[in-house]
Amino acid sequence: MQFVSLGKTEAIGASCHLALIGDTGLLIDAGADPDEEGPDSLPDFAAIHQRPDWHVDHALVTHAHHDHIGSLPVLIQHFPHVRVHMTRATRDLTDFVLPASARLQQRKLEEGTSIHAPLFGEEELEEQQFVYAPRDLNTDFDVTGLRGQCRITARFYHAGHVLGAAGVLFSWEVDGRTRRAFYTSDTNRHAQSIVPGGEYPDPPVDILILESTLGADKTAEKTTRKAEEKKFGDALAKVLERGGTALIPSFAFGRAQEVLALIDRFKKRKRIPADIPVYTAGSMRAFAEIYDRTRFNTPRLDEEFKVLDVEQMRLPRKPGLLNQALQGPAIHVAASGMMFERTLSNTLARRLVEDEKNAIFLVGFAKEDSPAAQLFAAAKEKGENIEVQLDRTKPMQPVRCEVQKFRFSGHSHRGDLINLVERLSPATVALVHGETDARNWMADRIRKEYPNINVVIPEEGIPVEL
Ligand SMILES: [Zn+2]
Ligand SMILES: [Zn+2]
Repeated sequence: MQFVSLGKTEAIGASCHLALIGDTGLLIDAGADPDEEGPDSLPDFAAIHQRPDWHVDHALVTHAHHDHIGSLPVLIQHFPHVRVHMTRATRDLTDFVLPASARLQQRKLEEGTSIHAPLFGEEELEEQQFVYAPRDLNTDFDVTGLRGQCRITARFYHAGHVLGAAGVLFSWEVDGRTRRAFYTSDTNRHAQSIVPGGEYPDPPVDILILESTLGADKTAEKTTRKAEEKKFGDALAKVLERGGTALIPSFAFGRAQEVLALIDRFKKRKRIPADIPVYTAGSMRAFAEIYDRTRFNTPRLDEEFKVLDVEQMRLPRKPGLLNQALQGPAIHVAASGMMFERTLSNTLARRLVEDEKNAIFLVGFAKEDSPAAQLFAAAKEKGENIEVQLDRTKPMQPVRCEVQKFRFSGHSHRGDLINLVERLSPATVALVHGETDARNWMADRIRKEYPNINVVIPEEGIPVEL
């Protein structure tokens, strides 16, 4: 298999790889880089046109996160004949995620916050839908290309990461021997609150293409979800007891639904009073609806559980009612998770940060310099005059509220990833989707513990033979 990453490889950027097997071209994920805009956010699709031996027959999208699906419409512009395989839940999510992305790009251009014309429009998305091929988990499907010299099958495995997320196994025959390559995508071996842990093919596989997101994270290895849940429940109970309001900034797809499921559990187990109002808003409610609609045909811890059955109120818009909603005790779950400027969580945080009764609980990844990371850093300093500027157009504010961080990652920690290597017993491991430090740590550990495994760290645009 010839393998090349077409997105940034020294960081978590646009996830996109091309695998060439006996003249079949398979594109794995078509992500966009969340830190860039316009053409800079795209994988290098043009590189495929430039090499006569590179082409795309089939594409596989492993889940509906922007860094895995965000450039799919542009991929189809480049290769209109391609078939795009994804799980049924990801297919459902596509109808919501991609039009939202088109509208956001248009709005940014109109507001002048981006100079780039949208990469695709909503109408175009309608026309592209016929190339989508929804697939069931644990079921083989054919991905052999027109010029393919051998038959290739693919099969999705539940990845445990977020609704619809899947790893993919490719199988083909060379000289009478079956070869198998497994791409983990973003994977989580442990259950969250709604989504159970990931499933993997039977060993051995020849090639393992492994994510490395938490490869440089020592702390993740030492925290268990159970302990974090307890810490989170205790902290929440304390804020509510003192009459404060807790803001939980959450990514609208995945984390928000998992957090609501946890709050529901806390209420049912009487960890927090059942009558505490919970406010939600915006697209997280649409995602919740997709979670609920797919609950009988996607892996669940409890298929009876519905996110929209968790008692919640729509955050009111009228100033008077909003003021009331911000009076504690109350819980607000609002996007964005990193509290970006001009999002609801940012607005609410600015309203809550100056009162020591309140709390802002961070439950997801916050990249450096994001308002969430700045708030966390400021709160850690403690002292009298610590201030933060959550919005550059607004004044500095004193940080008086409680700020805490909880680890509810949708990714396996590095110890679990190493265990997965052991379990799948591959001849070759290719490390993708991690910063340089993370991939290096993983490579060193695998080489030390399993000297017979060939470890490859692919670099953007440079093909490697796996
Ligand atoms: Zn993801
Ligand atoms: Zn990812």
